[in-house]
Amino acid sequence: MIDVVLVGETMMSLRARGTWRLGADARTSIAGAEATVAIGLSRLGHSARWVGRVGADEPGELILRTLRAEGVDTSAVGRDPDTPTGLILFEQRTPEVTRVLYHRAGSAGSHLDRQDVQTGLDCDARLLHLTGITPALSNTALDAVHAALAHARERGWTVSFDVNHRSRLWSADRAASVLSPLARRADVVIGSPGEIDLIGGPELLMASGVTELVTKNGAAGASARTRDGLWSAPAHLVTAVDTIGAGDAFTAGYLSGLLDDVAPEERLARGNAVGAFAVMAAGDWEGLPTRDELDLLGLGDGVALR
Ligand code: ADP
Repeated sequence: MIDVVLVGETMMSLRARGTWRLGADARTSIAGAEATVAIGLSRLGHSARWVGRVGADEPGELILRTLRAEGVDTSAVGRDPDTPTGLILFEQRTPEVTRVLYHRAGSAGSHLDRQDVQTGLDCDARLLHLTGITPALSNTALDAVHAALAHARERGWTVSFDVNHRSRLWSADRAASVLSPLARRADVVIGSPGEIDLIGGPELLMASGVTELVTKNGAAGASARTRDGLWSAPAHLVTAVDTIGAGDAFTAGYLSGLLDDVAPEERLARGNAVGAFAVMAAGDWEGLPTRDELDLLGLGDGVALR
């Protein structure tokens, strides 16, 4: 039994030390919302399988090697011999503002189709995690997301959906019309207040059968609405070094709490803790905590670790 299956695109990332146009040195890594959530969940002790496509190239090898090293199941990842792995370039201008450049149009990951999903989801799992990025990649990727959702629904898996609206990939109108019907078929929907409004707002979503609506509020923390009530939890007071990936880190923490069946306020607290670790470190996923590191926040200065 796998705890979580995640479907999406993972890219090779290049993070500039300086500015690209002046010939910056760069650090290579991997990036992608679903990969960050998968790594976050794996570090917290849950089993996670990532389903997607990479090219038959060195960036693809880097992605597979990194995910495997993080304990993520890559056995169902497709290799595309004809198209390259997508690239994402980061250039951090301030702690809060990072310029993002995509080289992902027509990438191997964007060629994901329903056959990939059929192979990847041929397992027992508890939860399917999807994001609003994959449907923006191509028509076949959108079709694959619908197929994954139908598959999970038929088998009674819980479905979580993080809106993750990417304005660089499509217009807000198009995103709203595609993502709203998808979100309404999920159990758990996660997004910023603006994203939740984009896909119809809290009332519509809860009336459609969503059982848990989670709102990420950056440095103000997060809140959750269930059929039983409304909860909120403050973020940790930390020095933000790089806020990219915080939302996906939060999602990993929140879903970890869901899998452990802890109360909503504890799910939010775990999400905020993982989100705080993400903003304290450079990189999308490198700073994510293991389970025994979760309690380090708030211990104060000079605490000796065992
Ligand atoms: P996104 O990356 O999707 O825009 P947010 O910026 O809302 O997501 O951040 C997600 C979560 O990460 C927040 O709910 C919070 O738990 C944590 N977080 C984000 N920014 C900070 C910060 N400056 N200080 C502490 N925690 C933060």
